[in-house]
Amino acid sequence: MKPIYFDHAATTPPRPEVIEAMLPYYREKWGNPSSLHAPGREAAEARDGARKQVADLLGALPEEIVFTSGGTEADNQALVGAAIAQEKKGNHIITSAVEHHAVLHTAQFLERHGLKVTYLPVDSGGLVDPEDLRKAITDKTILVSIMHANNEIGTIHPIAEIGAICREREVLFHTDAVQTVGHLPVSVRQMNIDVLSLSAHKFYGPKGVGALFVRKGVRIAPLIRGGGHERGRRSSTENVPGIVGLGEACRLAAEEMDWEMKHNAELRDRLIEGVLERVPDSILTGHPTQRLPNNASFCARYIEGESMLLSLGFEQIYVSSGSACTSGSLEASHVLLAIGLPHDVAHGSVRVSVGRGNTVEEVDRFLDVFPSIVERLRAMSPISGGRPASDFEGMPDFHDHEEAHQ
Ligand SMILES: *Cc1c(COP(=O)(O)O)cnc(C)c1O
Repeated sequence: MKPIYFDHAATTPPRPEVIEAMLPYYREKWGNPSSLHAPGREAAEARDGARKQVADLLGALPEEIVFTSGGTEADNQALVGAAIAQEKKGNHIITSAVEHHAVLHTAQFLERHGLKVTYLPVDSGGLVDPEDLRKAITDKTILVSIMHANNEIGTIHPIAEIGAICREREVLFHTDAVQTVGHLPVSVRQMNIDVLSLSAHKFYGPKGVGALFVRKGVRIAPLIRGGGHERGRRSSTENVPGIVGLGEACRLAAEEMDWEMKHNAELRDRLIEGVLERVPDSILTGHPTQRLPNNASFCARYIEGESMLLSLGFEQIYVSSGSACTSGSLEASHVLLAIGLPHDVAHGSVRVSVGRGNTVEEVDRFLDVFPSIVERLRAMSPISGGRPASDFEGMPDFHDHEEAHQ
């Protein structure tokens, strides 16, 4: 049987068009964009064409796009760069408890170097309350960093509203939009975003390339110094093939976004309905309606996420537990703890993230095998049985909101 890839939040397969667009820049057009001769100019033109494609997807200007080595570098650049550029203005950063480690660990690093950081809590659906943000801003606040959508539970934050509060209080606003760019409409102007991180491999582009949008007039200190590439904001000879691949992924995403959102949401809803119906003692994690079209994440009581992942792997069905970065360790996911789940429940997490190549038949095969896997694991589990169901009290009930998905 054909393997089923259900881990698009971890990475996506590069599209054939993306690979085709990149190949000439490995094979023939390998000039250095900084060189003044013809091969150099050819590479520089390709880079700048891609810069326009990225800018167009975000409603930004080409000169507002800085290419990076991926989402992690963009997040580090945003936080550290904003903190250094504004060290005279203040020393306080606000972020959320559910950020990706690229933001969270960078915030903790800055904290160890003397900055003050506020980690906003989230509700049981994973949402920050904009009023909490309003109250947390002081005259020392130099940056707010709240992700657009969460990579583990798919919750989409009210970014336009958060951006408006930051604008009103004249505080810089960064969003990690790695899970949304290329998947949902993102307009940096309409959403009041000053700085935004994106990564190509999360939307069918190549790995090792991403970008930081920095609104015109915003000052960010560079992390990587050298020859002054990217207008001095990020030195090092550009990854031209990767940048061309990112540009092509942006172009394709803009063209096919409506279709893909609908396609993914149908599969997601079939997964959610099916799992909640067929797997006793399972819950949906994340917000019932404000969630990514491709994310279906669950916790099943009395078992470990890792065991489910392994059993599904034997069936050649590939999902993840927590996020790919946390599943190497046995710590419960900080995101699942932040939404209020007890440790033992958080350990039983599975994230299914669908993509453009998945089909209804694949969802149905998952729904055929998953309930029996859970049942078998529970039969072997020492923690199974005899526990009150009250652990799930206060969690959002998906069935209350069925009509309203987006
Ligand atoms: C994947 C991811 C990142 C890291 O991006 P890389 O390009 O893999 O470094 C950052 N933030 C979020 C929300 C992600 O999902």
